Amino acid sequence: MSTAQSRVKRERKRSREIFERAEKVLVGGVNSPVRAFRSVGGEPLIIERGSGQHLYDADGNELLDFVCSWGAMIVGHANPAISEAIADQARRGTSFGVTTELEVELATFITRAIPFIEKIRFVSSGTEATMSAVRLARGVTKRDFIVKFEGCYHGHADSFLSQAGSGLATLGIAECPGVPAALAALTLNVAYNDLHAVERVFLQHKDKIAAIIVEPIAANMGVVPPQTGFLKGLHEITKKNGALLIVDEVITGFRLHNGSVQELLGIEADLTTLGKIIGGGVPVAAYGGRAELMDHVAPLGPVYQAGTLAGNPLAMRAGIAALKQLEKPGLYEEMTQLAGKKLRGCQALRHQAIRQIFPRNARSGRIFGAVTVRGCFCFCGPHLPGY
Ligand code: PLP
Repeated sequence: MSTAQSRVKRERKRSREIFERAEKVLVGGVNSPVRAFRSVGGEPLIIERGSGQHLYDADGNELLDFVCSWGAMIVGHANPAISEAIADQARRGTSFGVTTELEVELATFITRAIPFIEKIRFVSSGTEATMSAVRLARGVTKRDFIVKFEGCYHGHADSFLSQAGSGLATLGIAECPGVPAALAALTLNVAYNDLHAVERVFLQHKDKIAAIIVEPIAANMGVVPPQTGFLKGLHEITKKNGALLIVDEVITGFRLHNGSVQELLGIEADLTTLGKIIGGGVPVAAYGGRAELMDHVAPLGPVYQAGTLAGNPLAMRAGIAALKQLEKPGLYEEMTQLAGKKLRGCQALRHQAIRQIFPRNARSGRIFGAVTVRGCFCFCGPHLPGY
């Protein structure tokens, strides 16, 4: 028996008790639907602490974490440099409601790694970032429609809650009550990797589409890589039609290398959204792009967007401490090697594991197309073009 296995008691008495209490005071016992484990089966985890690649539940079981807080914890749990930065900042003050030099520092890290982001605005969640980028695109183009792709997830803002991936897909939610029909009608859903379909909607809605928003590697419906020419094609279509391209890198940013995945795929979006990794495990997200576009945002321009805790010093310190470590030469290569090793192990176990883990939901088996190892994507199994 391996050390990891021997430390798992698999008794979950205390976790169960806590979750029962959670169900009384939190909706479904959770603060984000996937944490309820409803679509994958099994009991919701109650975690007490993390260290490196391990999580420890309320019963003292040690778990190997393949999720890494959905990618945010790329340098591991309770990373010493991040923990120290947070503790130090907590002693100095956690929110001042005005600008600090730390915001400039994190923005500089990001714009250095992704030079086509000239100016950036920090927000507190990926949802806020994508929602604000769409508002900016609508404000700049003075158009209302947006194009998104089936199975891509861009957070829970009203405009994105149709045919989205991630939590919605796993819960089988196609449409969300509470989203005004008039607003939903402004979101045009198209199949991922289908450039012809995108051209058709631009023809059908001539001069009315503000932006296309896309995950450069779709990671919320399993992992679906873009087909050759897809992203460049989107960029050409937007340019030709006076619309903007928003590339949502909330998952992919700083995940495959120290910067944006767009660089690896040969495109530069008009606007880019980031989240997860740039906050080092503390709520930070951002949207950014060329200065002439970003300067339409208040206070320089009329597109309003604000946030009480946006860019707060605690979050900035965590983000800076995370991104500093990602600059270490050879780090991503090392992670890729580790991911490859895990991938080979997973391939060996794949058929057996899919049957055991996903007996009730065949579509979820596609999750095994993406193995997440300390934040690295790999692809295994058949590549599917879309949702
Ligand atoms: N965009 C993408 C690609 C995401 O995967 C997510 C969340 O997983 C979001 C946006 C929303 O981010 P958040 O959950 O921080 O609101």
